[in-house]
Amino acid sequence: MTFTAQILTLYPDMFPGPLGTSLAGKALEQGKWTCNTVQMRDFATDRHRSVDDTPAGGGAGMVLRADILGQAVDHALAQQPDAPVIAMTPRGKPLTQRRVRELSAGLGVTILCGRFEGFDERIFEGRDIEEVSIGDYVLSGGEMGALVLLDACIRLLPGVMGASCSGDDESFETGLLEYPQYTRPVEWEGRIIPEVLRSGDHAKVEAWRKAKAEADTRLRRPDLWERHGGASNPPPSGARRTNKED
Ligand code: SAM
Repeated sequence: MTFTAQILTLYPDMFPGPLGTSLAGKALEQGKWTCNTVQMRDFATDRHRSVDDTPAGGGAGMVLRADILGQAVDHALAQQPDAPVIAMTPRGKPLTQRRVRELSAGLGVTILCGRFEGFDERIFEGRDIEEVSIGDYVLSGGEMGALVLLDACIRLLPGVMGASCSGDDESFETGLLEYPQYTRPVEWEGRIIPEVLRSGDHAKVEAWRKAKAEADTRLRRPDLWERHGGASNPPPSGARRTNKED
């Protein structure tokens, strides 16, 4: 099964963009996923190929028209009826690793990229569309958000990262941040890799990593720690950072 990304955009040239290189690019070449774009202007009805109009009620900018979006989404659904349709919008539900895992286990995804002031709200009443945000900041268009979402999904597709790295250990997979990583040289500017990581004692390494993941999540991301069961699940005593984040 090939994971199919279908992207509704005013800028089809932005795809696959950075997803044409590195892991995702290789996977694309190998047919592990496919990338199809749909130009939303193709559904315009006037000779200027307009897709937007001024905001009802007044105000700055332009809004993507529901009638044009509806046509574009219907076209996308006809191509890929069983894939979820996601609209990139700062008003959406924040994207999580859990949702990324679910999406990457499916057939693919259709992504609607906003521009200008965003979408006429009626598109979300008239069609089954999931609104997704990639963070509490405003981009100039949904294309970057789509690339982020797709990158997160593609690396999880079977065979993309390789058998040696499933991603199971990574930040957010267990609701925690990942433990800190080190590599050679053992000493750099007087800083030495923690002794336990050089001990060869796998049980001790595991215990150290678990304690660090918990302590760092608690300090850096109290929101995640809370969701993980923070208060009822205190980190081991002494598991405090001693660097500048203290
Ligand atoms: N007026 C909108 C607001 O204040 O919520 C912002 C529109 S933004 C300039 C244009 C488009 O960029 C949006 O329609 C959306 O597709 C995309 N976008 C901007 N920020 C985003 C975010 N944090 N997550 C996902 N998409 C975003």
